[in-house]
Amino acid sequence: DPTALKYKRVLLKLSGEALGFGGGKLGINLDETKLIAAQLARVAARGIQLAVVIGGGNLLRGAQFSAGDEQIRPATADYMGMLATVMNGLALQDTLEAMGVETRLQSAVRMETVAEPYIRRRALRHLEKNRIVILAGGTGNPFVTTDTAAALRGTELQADVLLKATKVDGVYNADPVKNQYAEKFERLTFDQVIQKQLGVMDIGAFEMCRLAKLPILVFNYRQDGAIEKAVSGQPIGTVVTG
Ligand code: UDP
Repeated sequence: DPTALKYKRVLLKLSGEALGFGGGKLGINLDETKLIAAQLARVAARGIQLAVVIGGGNLLRGAQFSAGDEQIRPATADYMGMLATVMNGLALQDTLEAMGVETRLQSAVRMETVAEPYIRRRALRHLEKNRIVILAGGTGNPFVTTDTAAALRGTELQADVLLKATKVDGVYNADPVKNQYAEKFERLTFDQVIQKQLGVMDIGAFEMCRLAKLPILVFNYRQDGAIEKAVSGQPIGTVVTG
């Protein structure tokens, strides 16, 4: 049955750039946000429990913002990056709610007036009620990125899979943008990723998934229906398993 669901609970890592303009322009593009939200709404409508870790790279990346002289400390820039993810989370939340989808926004950085604090058991309760849980604020700690937040939340919320939505179609043996002969892997084991020194996600985040045996599916979110394909286990992207 091609419509059968493969995963019951998924953790989707959505880069900030999924809500951005592309071409290096910063900001939140409402049209892109709508396209993504429509995909998420269809996933939730199928009864899949969906937690979304939202990035902030369309607004600010700590490592870039603090580069150069020492005007902005790296930790400060990272906290600014975490705040950027909250802005994206708010935009995604209202866009989904305007489509009639129930959501909750939880932030790892306490900000009670705009978002619930991240509380694991509460997040689980929302998921059981089929609310899309948007997780903002990353891990709440500097010196990591939202990849680490995705691995952490995916593990603690016992997701069946970590979906890493990117601009490329999966994991390649070389950079497909620079090398036209680059080949895509359909599936890999965690050990193969290490042996071949492939870039799947931040190394700390990858290691967390490996230890927890949390499968990672890297796929391109830009084709419409990609997220639905990914959750139903149809061939898309590259899957990394134990
Ligand atoms: N960030 C952080 N701790 C976290 C998650 C994020 O300090 O746990 C900061 C970091 O500066 C990062 C920025 O927030 O560059 C935005 O997140 P990320 O770069 O992961 O966004 P994405 O690339 O996914 O859009």
